[in-house]
Amino acid sequence: MRGKGSFEAGFKRGAIRGAAFGAIAAGVQIVLLGPAVRAPYSEDIEMANRAYGIGSYGPVYRRAWGPLGIVTRVFWRPGAAFGRNIIIKATGEARDVFEHETAHYYQQLLLSPTTWTARIITEQFIPSAYTTPGYLEWGAEMFRIY
Ligand SMILES: [Zn+2]
Repeated sequence: MRGKGSFEAGFKRGAIRGAAFGAIAAGVQIVLLGPAVRAPYSEDIEMANRAYGIGSYGPVYRRAWGPLGIVTRVFWRPGAAFGRNIIIKATGEARDVFEHETAHYYQQLLLSPTTWTARIITEQFIPSAYTTPGYLEWGAEMFRIY
């Protein structure tokens, strides 16, 4: 059976809507977060992705455009992680920034995004968080350096 009410027609409509929604979601993310950029090659990131079993659902690196990009620029950070979206402020930012922010992505997977977000916000008020063991910022620095 074919036609408007058939399973095939319904499936086709669903597929078209799904594709349209995906395109809209990608558009919203570009507007909010900026266009995607390719990360410079990092053996550390490649090895960690393999160890954590991260395939196609890896982090997406984006230029610091859009509202969240502006927040990143205002705080004058080289980068920031928002879920799997990693904002990189400068266009030709060094590999270190990609590595530091990618470490935050792994931390979110290990801790849960809510726990990670609560802790990372608190740490932004602790200047020694980057140099004191136990802090998430310290962990990201360790990943970046070693
Ligand atoms: Zn950090």
